[in-house]
Amino acid sequence: MKIKAVLFDLDGVLVDATEWHYDALNRALALFGYTIARYEHLTIYNGLPTRKKLEMLSVEKGLPRGLHTMINRIKQKFTREEILRQCTPVFEKEYMIRQLRRDGYRLGCCSNSIRDSLELMLRGSGILDQFEVLVSNEDVQHPKPDPEMYLNAMSALQLAPGETVIVEDADHGAEAARRAGGHLCRVSGFGEVEYERIRRFIADIEQGKKEAA
Ligand SMILES: [Mg+2]
Repeated sequence: MKIKAVLFDLDGVLVDATEWHYDALNRALALFGYTIARYEHLTIYNGLPTRKKLEMLSVEKGLPRGLHTMINRIKQKFTREEILRQCTPVFEKEYMIRQLRRDGYRLGCCSNSIRDSLELMLRGSGILDQFEVLVSNEDVQHPKPDPEMYLNAMSALQLAPGETVIVEDADHGAEAARRAGGHLCRVSGFGEVEYERIRRFIADIEQGKKEAA
């Protein structure tokens, strides 16, 4: 089957936002006397929506649930500051996105981030205008690992799952991609996401060398 679109995850794929989210959440939690260790964040919390992280902190560390809304709001403000300060274009990613567009592929980005962060990061990276469809956690009922985001993107593009490649780095994202029925191009992280890898993956799919994920 011919591939028509490439749907990208955001964090760990198009941007390396782990530290920005970690810094923002810890700055917000510190106001109330709580912290998450870097190791915990990398192994447990990274990639989950803030609301889910806060719920886990309530279960694990007794963070009062009544604080969730306020901490969430403060965290989003700090995230904005960190993105504006730290997010700049990365040559390999700009090159990949522009080449894929030149090759005729339609592009989407589906992220468990809120819409403001999603747009800020893509704008800071210099690639926002290349995307035809953006799906944030505010656009769905259920974030990843639910397939809703990817199914929404496919339906917005009016494409069948088999016509899409989904680039994901994390387990919950890979699960969302598989359940949506797209061809999963799994990467181990930001550094692995480049044009040649995506083109090779698409060529293998189209030549029937890889089974549908
Ligand atoms: Mg990710």
